[in-house]
Amino acid sequence: MPSFESIARDIRSCTKCPLHRSRKNAVPGEGNPKAEILFIGEGPGENEDNSGRPFVGEAGKFLDDLLSSIKIKREEVFITNIVKCRPINNRDPLDEEVRICTSAYLYDQTRNIKPKLIVTLGRHSMHQFFPQIRSISAVHGKAYKKAGQVYMLMYHPAAALYQASLKTTIKEDFKKIPEILRQIGEE
Ligand code: URA
Repeated sequence: MPSFESIARDIRSCTKCPLHRSRKNAVPGEGNPKAEILFIGEGPGENEDNSGRPFVGEAGKFLDDLLSSIKIKREEVFITNIVKCRPINNRDPLDEEVRICTSAYLYDQTRNIKPKLIVTLGRHSMHQFFPQIRSISAVHGKAYKKAGQVYMLMYHPAAALYQASLKTTIKEDFKKIPEILRQIGEE
């Protein structure tokens, strides 16, 4: 398996799908390579494309608030996305882009980190692991185990920026993370 650093290097110079043509920076992800929790969002937006770092815009600020509400530092976790390059005008990533990017990078990143818990942020990230689940509204804040890996399915933090009522829901869902981690530790 490629090393953690070589995966990030390959992502930064990747030309496997058309998204590389319009990107400024690919965004491999950042955080602790031995993190207990891996957060997976959808794809870089404008701020992330400009900086090469994940979740640094408005949604990222909310994610930082959510992490500090459960006393977890951003540096302790690992944060990445399903696709590593910004889809132009923030459109949804195409199935083919997701297939290429996850099979080249995300699964290797996950195998390297070996997180206790994967937290999917939003519908696209959830569908990557649970394609049969149709609606996030019935499953958000819940933990699921699949092939030995525990997942927690969350709304995307950006959803709270468009729909204020979701802010409280996401905060409540986040509060369940420490207890889920504790339960995984006891297994
Ligand atoms: N939204 C995402 O899904 N990922 C980011 O990195 C930023 C915003």
